[in-house]
Amino acid sequence: MPERFPASLQQKIEDRLRYYEDLGIRLFYTDRGPGGTTLVAPEPIASVSSSAPIIEETVLPKPTTKPAPAKVAPVAPPPLVVHPTGPSLFETMGKVKDETLLNIREDLGDCTRCKLHKGRNKIVFGDGNPKAELVFVGEGPGADEDAQGLPFVGRAGKLLTQMIEAMGLQRKDVYICNVVKCRPPENRAPEPDEVTACSPFLIRQIDSIRPKVIVCLGATAAKTILNTTRGISQFRGEWLEWRGHKLMATYHPAYLLRNPPAKADVWKDLQKVMAELGLQLPKKSKS
Ligand code: SF4
Repeated sequence: MPERFPASLQQKIEDRLRYYEDLGIRLFYTDRGPGGTTLVAPEPIASVSSSAPIIEETVLPKPTTKPAPAKVAPVAPPPLVVHPTGPSLFETMGKVKDETLLNIREDLGDCTRCKLHKGRNKIVFGDGNPKAELVFVGEGPGADEDAQGLPFVGRAGKLLTQMIEAMGLQRKDVYICNVVKCRPPENRAPEPDEVTACSPFLIRQIDSIRPKVIVCLGATAAKTILNTTRGISQFRGEWLEWRGHKLMATYHPAYLLRNPPAKADVWKDLQKVMAELGLQLPKKSKS
């Protein structure tokens, strides 16, 4: 992108264009405003190649009998309004149809879109059934996940596996992923700029899978997806709606390891999920 703005604004514009590109939106239109050319909201397109360039399409004036002047004096571009923190997850611009998880993983590549790439060993994209009716979304990878490149494989992951099996399912029946795909240092919560950089890929994963139910594991995942500052205990176990999917937040398995009595609350939540999915409790084998 040529230098046309102050460096800080230039960076914000580049970040915003990258965000749109990560959402699969690469076609932009410009229109003629009173002071020259004005950027307007980009429109989503059905499908794009990952190498498609950003196209600036100018609305040309209607031909007149007079020939256009050979040279037009340059006009300073009008200021762009840039959100200081980027759009919320609710402000995403429609779905890119028929994307596969493979397409999305290829698009993510060897990602360096945020500072979390510096400390990671492996990107933890997600794992499970690409057509799952149930998707679990956690906060971010821990040490075990970072080493193996798979989500929820440590102690908390083993507990999640037990919870899934208690529902009468297996891990391969569901899809498991995180809000950010690289391990935050010292297992801290992901920071807003990291969530903003990585969230388009989570949205695209969910849009590709089209699950019936999303279960958010823990406060960070729930607050990020729902764009709320409310404590998870205020909406845990309630059915919510997000991008056309039924969504329920419950406690993170790591929290259950520290606070086992909370397992009863989570089991109540999962039973609601089972009812929604038409799952029966597995029958106990006769001894
Ligand atoms: S956390 Fe997401 S956006 Fe950041 S480097 Fe990793 S994959 Fe890229």
